[in-house]
Amino acid sequence: MLRKTNFYINGAWIPPTLPNDFDVINPATEKPVCVISLGSSKDVNKAVTAAKNSFDIWNNTPIKERILKIEKLAEIYEIRVDEMAKAISMEMGAPIDLAINSQAAAGIGHIRSFIRVLKEFKFEHYLRDDTPDEFLIHEAVGVCGLITPWNWPMNQVTMKVIPALGVGCTVVLKPSEIAPMSSLLFAEFMDEAGFLDGVFNLINGDGPTVGDAIGRHPDIDMISFTGSTKVGIGLTRSSADTVKRVALEMGGKGANIIFADANITEAVKRGAIHCFNNTGQSCNAPSRMLVERSVYDEAVEIASTTAKNTAIGQPNEHGNHIGPLVSEAQFNKVQDLIQSGIDEGARLVAGGIGRPDGFNRGYFVQATVFADVNNSMRIAREEIFGPVLSIIPFDDEAEAIKISNDTKYGLTNYVQSGDILRAQRISRHLRSGMVVFNGASRHPESPFGGYKQSGKGREGGIYGLEEFLEVKAISGWNTVIR
Ligand code: NAD
Repeated sequence: MLRKTNFYINGAWIPPTLPNDFDVINPATEKPVCVISLGSSKDVNKAVTAAKNSFDIWNNTPIKERILKIEKLAEIYEIRVDEMAKAISMEMGAPIDLAINSQAAAGIGHIRSFIRVLKEFKFEHYLRDDTPDEFLIHEAVGVCGLITPWNWPMNQVTMKVIPALGVGCTVVLKPSEIAPMSSLLFAEFMDEAGFLDGVFNLINGDGPTVGDAIGRHPDIDMISFTGSTKVGIGLTRSSADTVKRVALEMGGKGANIIFADANITEAVKRGAIHCFNNTGQSCNAPSRMLVERSVYDEAVEIASTTAKNTAIGQPNEHGNHIGPLVSEAQFNKVQDLIQSGIDEGARLVAGGIGRPDGFNRGYFVQATVFADVNNSMRIAREEIFGPVLSIIPFDDEAEAIKISNDTKYGLTNYVQSGDILRAQRISRHLRSGMVVFNGASRHPESPFGGYKQSGKGREGGIYGLEEFLEVKAISGWNTVIR
């Protein structure tokens, strides 16, 4: 079994202050695959000191040189991408093809995208063309604590580390203790790329100890967190005493509105497959399917067939199957929510309680579809984070908008319609950070983030850089003393 018990602090791999071994479990076998350490506040102090001490030098390093280091990192990541995919697959159960083509690929995609944006970003400019005395400088916010989840590990890590370092911040990363192997490998890439000692530090640990210590640390200027809304609220509280900037990317309960004038077969199938992708463990999963009543029965049938045709398989096997859920806790949570759907009277049309046939080990669950859901049921209100689709009928646009917005979340909503003017009209009423029409792909530089309890701030592209920047206004820039 792998032993990766050291932390990456100040450019070196060092043991934790106090040994505290922790097993990383392969969710397909329920067996440990790697031993890491859970750190303490003393380890956080060491990492923050390193990040603080390197800040001035890194922040004053010309942007071109910082970009060169990130380009070197991109080259290393591309060479070692298969190792990254394997680590992700083992730690969180993504089937290997998904791990290669989506999970690991997302990391390199973000690195390349941020390199482009960093090259174009204007860090210094006049307020307006006609204000020669008013000058603005966009400066790094300082030392950043980055706290990430297990579901898209490299997507999240690169969405934070790259813009932060790119604009001149220094960082302490705490990945999810459930899926830390990919981040440990990423730290190896950072080391090989030869970043200045101390600008990137990694500590493993649990949330209540290491995560909380990061939240409270007086020398951390900003927290960028991705994870559950509950933890995000707690972190906002713990970081309040030191008035940190807090950026939050949290849960979702996306509505996928399907109108009768869409291509129903395509739209329903695509929506169900998207909901089940990554075994339903995506914040932007379209987990509530809202269907216009005239095509409702047809949609239920198509979604049910799609679920029944969803292959489930081992993460280390090639193919487009779905893998297990990440952990026993997640397995139990999903079972509980499926049971609640049955108890509250939703109509189970595919899947259900228990492992799929042929599986007696691993956190595998069935692709599940409920019809006749109403928006007050738990399966319509709570983020399930499993391959469970809830189908809700609606009669008109106004009702579709009302149901879509009747949630504490506001991350991504989806609209399927043959009438593009209708889709555009509806999108203006949806209270979410993102709306996707008819299966379109999102541009990598488009801002990613949520309204309401889905978050605060945006990641990706220019918006992702701005998260990590302060703006300084200088008046009298060209004023000469007379
Ligand atoms: P989580 O909130 O349990 O954990 C996220 C991170 O926070 C982990 O590193 C964890 O150790 C840490 N943490 C836990 N308790 C903490 C505390 N008290 N103080 C500080 N840090 C603490 O979330 P998870 O289960 O790892 O991930 C799933 C959640 O992430 C889902 O709700 C999902 O929607 C969300 N998510 C959101 C986005 C987005 O961009 N909006 C993307 C991916 C995942």
